[in-house]
Parts: sequence; C-alpha cells; structure tokens
Amino acid sequence: MKAVVFHEFGNSDVLRVEEQPDPTPGPGEVVVDVTATALNHLDVDVREGTSRFPVAFPHTLGVEPVGRIAALGEGVTGWQVGDRVAVYLIAVCGACAYCRTGRESLCVAPDWFVSMGSGGAYAEKVTCKTSQLIPIPDGVSDVEAAAAHIAFGTAWHMLITRAGLRSGETVLINSVGSGIGSAAVQVAKHAGAFVIGNSSRDDKLERAAALGMDVGINYTTQDVVAEVMEATGGEGVDVVYEHVGGELFQHGLDSLRKDGRLVICGGHSGEVVPFDIIPFFRRQLSVIGSFVFTRAEVEACFALIARGALKPQVAATFPLEEVKEATDLMESRAFFGKIVLTTGGAA
Ligand SMILES: [Zn+2]
Repeated sequence: MKAVVFHEFGNSDVLRVEEQPDPTPGPGEVVVDVTATALNHLDVDVREGTSRFPVAFPHTLGVEPVGRIAALGEGVTGWQVGDRVAVYLIAVCGACAYCRTGRESLCVAPDWFVSMGSGGAYAEKVTCKTSQLIPIPDGVSDVEAAAAHIAFGTAWHMLITRAGLRSGETVLINSVGSGIGSAAVQVAKHAGAFVIGNSSRDDKLERAAALGMDVGINYTTQDVVAEVMEATGGEGVDVVYEHVGGELFQHGLDSLRKDGRLVICGGHSGEVVPFDIIPFFRRQLSVIGSFVFTRAEVEACFALIARGALKPQVAATFPLEEVKEATDLMESRAFFGKIVLTTGGAA
C-alpha cells in the first residue's frame, strides 16, 4: 500500500509517499481501506516534533480516517467486510470506570492513541480495534464523514456535553474559520443559541454568517470584548468556545457574563497565560476543559448531517500523492473548514 511517511522531524518537505507492506489484522482488529482522511493541526505538531507524543520513525501521520472494512481479525463479530466506518482516534479499553460511564475519551488504559502504534491515516489502509469503529449512515459521504467526525464530535462534546449549552443562550465561538470553529457555529445554532464569532479574516466571517452566525468580529481590526458587549447589551455571553489560547483566551474570559463558562480544548497561540483570580471568582466564572469526544457524539452528529441539519465544510480535497500541497494549504490558514486527502474509491 501507499503511505505518507517521514523519517525526521521538519517542515512539509520531510513528507514522502512510500510503498509499505499491507497491514494484516490481529485478534479483535480490522483493516480499513482508507478512502478519505482529513488533515488536523495535530499532524503539524507531530511532524515538527512538538506534539509531546512519542514518535518512532518512519512515521505516518493522520488521525481522521474514513473508509471500508477490508479484513476482519480473529474473534471480530458485529462488523462485515465492506461496512463504511470512521475510525475513532483512541482504542479505548471498554472496561475502565470512564469507559463504563460514557466518558471514553478519558479511558485510563487505551491500547492506542491517535496514530501512535497503529499506523496513521495518511495511507491506503489502517488497522484499528473494533472499539474504534463508528458506522457511517447513508446520506453522509466518505469525504463529508472525514471532514466531520473530529470537527463536529469536538464541537458537540464541548458545547453540548461539557458546557451544557441551552436554547436562548449566547455563545462566542473563537476562530470560526477552522474545522472545529465552523462546526461549532452550526452546533450552537442547532441548539438554539445566539452566535457571535471571531476570525482574523472577513471572508471567513462571511462564510460563518452563511452558516447562521449572528454577529462576526474581526479580531485583527476590532476589539473582541467591546464588540461582544455591544452585541449583548453590555451583559457578555453565557458560553465561550475556546481552542486558540493566548490573547483569545483572555478576551474570552473578559467576554463572559457573570456565571458564564468558558470551555476549552486547545491553546496553540499561547498555552501558558496569565490568569487573574479575583474577577474569576467574584464574577463566578467557570473554565471547563474538554478532551476530544465520544463515538456516540459522532453518531449523533452523523445522523444530523444525514438529515441535512449540519453541513460538513470541505475546504478542498487532494489525492494522497499531493499531501505536501494539502499540508501547505493547512499551514497557510487560508481556507475555511477541513482539508481532506482521498485515495480513490470515496463514496
Ligand atoms: Zn477505558
């Protein structure tokens, strides 16, 4: 099979398309013929050696594969060759206290996490455990499923499960042009919220407005907190959706109304920030951490996509061989939604 590998940390020039042996499934595993896989910013961190995950060379990137089951390992039941699936990024144990209580992303004994150990998704085939399989319903294409499963799963977990967003609340979505930002705009609107979003680019704000965003703020030319206060009658928002870090984390805290909650899943633009404790407790604010999502949340999103209620935003598709061009586009940040690699055969 073809796979994208790198033999040293570096920029996108280190990526190579190479021939590798086809994987075979071990007990409890399946091999999936990958038809589509979305790029994720984590891939850049792993390639550059800054991810804080262990990486062995040669390494294949990719955490968002979608395709068809091609082979079943010993003891696999309930799945058939040909089933269309997305692959959950954690091989959960299914038995620990977190797995047993619907919080599987916190599994204490995962066999694999992301592409570590299992071979990444920038390849024609991946091996995974059956505990990673998420069925794709009719009405959701492979490319849509690849673009959607991490973006919408993350947005759903953050807004609905962790922050408990309710109809009638106001929410500030940071960086609406990203995959998880554009998904969050749609999930928040679907939940009945009034949605304010920000971006560094007016064209991305226009795209988000077309998805239902009520108010857009360009954080390079406008004062985020002042614009939020203007849009909320001086109150601030109930919920901030944060995945950027640095200055936007600060703006997020300052944009909350009293008793508001900020839910956060990342901090690329500044992972260590000053934090003023006094207004935090006097205004009774909450900061809520959020770690990936569950398979059930993805299934809920897939069902809504199949009904047309949520729309995956596919910025561009590239064949696997053009991985460098796809990666360079992602790193340019000049796109809206998700970039997808295809290997042919995508339904
Ligand atoms: Zn577990």
